[in-house]
This record gives sequence, structure tokens and C-alpha cells, in this order.
Amino acid sequence: MTTRTTTSTTKKAPQKVAALALVAAGSSQRMGGLGKKEYLPLNGGSVLSEAAIVFLKTKLFSTVAVVHPPKGLAAAKKAFYQNPLVQDLAQGVNVIFVSGGATRQESVCKALTAIKKAADKNGSQAKKSPRGKSLQAQKAAAAPRAVLIHDGARPFLSQSLVKKTVAATLKYGAAVPALQPVETQKEMDSGSRIARHLTRSSLAAVQTPQGFLFPEILDCHKKAAQKASQDKNAAAAFTDDTEIWDKYSGKKTRVIPGEPQNIKITYPKDLGATPPAAASSGHKDNFVQDQKSAAALPARPTFRIGLGTDLHRLVAGRKLILGGVVLPFDKGEDGHSDGDALLHAITDALLGAAALGDIGSYFPPEDKKWKDADSAKLLRAAWNDVRAAGWRLENLDCVVKLQAPKFLPHRQSVRERIAKILGVEIERVFVKAKTGERVGLVGQSLVVETEAVCLLSKN
Ligand code: MG
Repeated sequence: MTTRTTTSTTKKAPQKVAALALVAAGSSQRMGGLGKKEYLPLNGGSVLSEAAIVFLKTKLFSTVAVVHPPKGLAAAKKAFYQNPLVQDLAQGVNVIFVSGGATRQESVCKALTAIKKAADKNGSQAKKSPRGKSLQAQKAAAAPRAVLIHDGARPFLSQSLVKKTVAATLKYGAAVPALQPVETQKEMDSGSRIARHLTRSSLAAVQTPQGFLFPEILDCHKKAAQKASQDKNAAAAFTDDTEIWDKYSGKKTRVIPGEPQNIKITYPKDLGATPPAAASSGHKDNFVQDQKSAAALPARPTFRIGLGTDLHRLVAGRKLILGGVVLPFDKGEDGHSDGDALLHAITDALLGAAALGDIGSYFPPEDKKWKDADSAKLLRAAWNDVRAAGWRLENLDCVVKLQAPKFLPHRQSVRERIAKILGVEIERVFVKAKTGERVGLVGQSLVVETEAVCLLSKN
């Protein structure tokens, strides 16, 4: 394997011969609002941390440069270290975060420059105190022989592919994994017409990591950047580093067999389609979980918040009913129905979240049918419609504004009653009470006021 050196053939820990540029500077516009794809959750970490783990486990890397969008340092750090395993595996590895550029080419160039700078800094420190450092540490501090440039959105590659890419890079100068296209390939003209019939066997769909000898690719990128600064159109010309290598080093890139599971996450469905072949990556246990967590992603639910409020006058000769529970008091809620201000606020919150209407339109006060009606029945009827529209209740939180009687002794029974009416667990329902500090309508026991917010979800 690649770790064998010319001076020693005994089997020992792999040498850190390479640096890694992990590129995650894009905006993930094709992920349909799911968020930045490299930062999406995967296997207890993120897509980015999963990709990092594969490389770090090979122990071939002295430096990892994570390229993030400008101003996105905190989010990048969080995503990179999201799986605690990364912290452990990165011990003794120089991890640097690099603010990306306007194009992929610019981002990679900045990463390579940062790797060089870090190596120069470590190298000069090692020279200053050679006795303070082990031979191994000094070697690790030297500039890497090779660099792998990898898309942060490709977490499913195997350690074996990483090792093979490093080996081929050291042997041939540049190496890239690729798959032969399955579909017959054509070249189109600007009018969407087939212009050329390509020979499938000579085509390669390239993946990453793309490996290059370090000083040489840095030199190529510098030249490309210089050219780009002179010619504005040149910056858009390179979306791939093998092209830069080809053009500026004049050397060829060796193609090695890629992996079908080494997909670049581009659309939401990509996270739901972890191919079974991924299990051969040596990351086997993790992929069982990956498939579960990834499968949950495209089915991410839609959420809706609902808000409801109510107010009823407190008058003698009526029962004080809140949340379907009668509270002993010398006054009660005035109203067309039983006046349960808490259930009314909840009904409005649920109907509003589902955009189905409100309590007034559902149960018009002028309709005699609802006179002295049990508000629990009204709520149940409204909730049935909300549920029929596919909504689930995530939670419901309420406030009762009441000077007297004390609400707290009744809280548990009110929560239980509401949960029972809605047919949900009590943990999803909470009610708090506030007094009116003896001022205002609430404080003088002239009214009871209620507020309710709910969160509904739907797949
Ligand atoms: Mg009401």
C-alpha cells in the first residue's frame, strides 16, 4: 500500500502523506429549502462530518482544510464536528477552516493556499525547536506530498477509495475516481439537437476525491487564478480540478474505478436513496442508521403554527368552565355556548393553523343549535376536520388570565381533559395561568382571557 516507504518496509502506522481540501462553499440551491446540504443531519452527525470521518479513519492526512461559505465559519465548525467521532479522529491533524470564494475554482485555490501556509508555519516551528518534536511530528509538519480535493456533499465513499486515490496520486501525479456512464451519451448543440454520438466506453463520469501532487496543483491553481484575474470569463471555465491540472501542468490524470454509492448529494431525494452498496465501505454499522435517518429526510413534515385568543365576561349565575373542567367560583362565563374561553381559544388555534376557518364561522352564534353547547363538542368537531385534512398535533400551549379562583390546583385535570378531547398524549398539552394583579378587567374578575398556540405537522 501507499504507506510503504523506500527506507522501511515494516508494517507500521500509515504516514500522513496527504492533505484534504473538503469543499463545502456552495449554497445548495437545489435542495428545495432543506438547507445547506453538507450540514444536513446524517448518522448522528452531518453530511460533512460523515465525509470527514471516512478520510480521517485512513490516517493518511496531516491537514484538513474545510472550505465554507464566506461568513459561515460557526456553522461550518458545528457541522464538521457534529459527530463527536470527528474530534477524536482529528487528534494530531491540523484542521483549518477556509472562507470560500465566488467560484469553486476560487474556493479550492484558497484551500490549497491555506494548506501551504499552515505547512510553512509548522515547518518553521519544527526547525526552530527540532528537539522538542518527534521525527514523526516533524514529518507531519512538512508540506503534504499529495492533496485530495473532495466535495463535502459526498459522504458515502469508502476508506478503500480514499486509500486507492492517494496511492494512484503518488504514483501517477494525479488521479480521479470515475464511473463509466450507464446511459448512451450524446453531445447536444445549442438547439437541443444531437450534434455528436459519443463512444460510451471512452467516457468517464468523474467523482471526487480528485488527487494531485501538492506543490504542482497549487502551482496550477495559482496560474489559473492569475489568468482568471486577467480574463473575467476564465473564472467560470473550470468546475473541476483535473481540467486545471491538464491545462497548466500539461500532464494527464489517471482514472481509477469510482464507486456507485459515492454520489454527490444534490437533490433532497439523494439523501433518501442511500444505495445498498454503501455497506461495503467499512462504515457498515453506520449505514444501517444512515438509511433510517436519511429515509426520514425527504418525508420531512410540514409545520403550521396556530394562534387563538378569547375573552368572556364573568357574571353571576353561570358556571366557570375552563378546558372542560368546572372551577368552583361565584361567577361564570357569559356566552352563547357554555362559555369555555380556554376551549374556544384552542379551537381557533387549531382551525387557524389548518387554515380551515375560525370558531365564529364554524359555529355561528346566531345559530340556535349552539346555545349553551358543550364547547368540548365544538372543539372535537373542529379537530376532526383538522385531522381529516391530515394534520397531527405536535403541541398545544395555553395561557389562562384569571384573578380568581386559583387555577393551579386544577391545572392537571384541565390538561388531562383537553388531551382526552383531542385524543393526544398529555405531554403535548400545557396550560399556564396568570392573574391580573387586581387591576384591569382580569384583575377585577370582570373577565377571563385565554390564549392558545399550537403546532401542527403533516407529512
Ligand atoms: Mg368564546
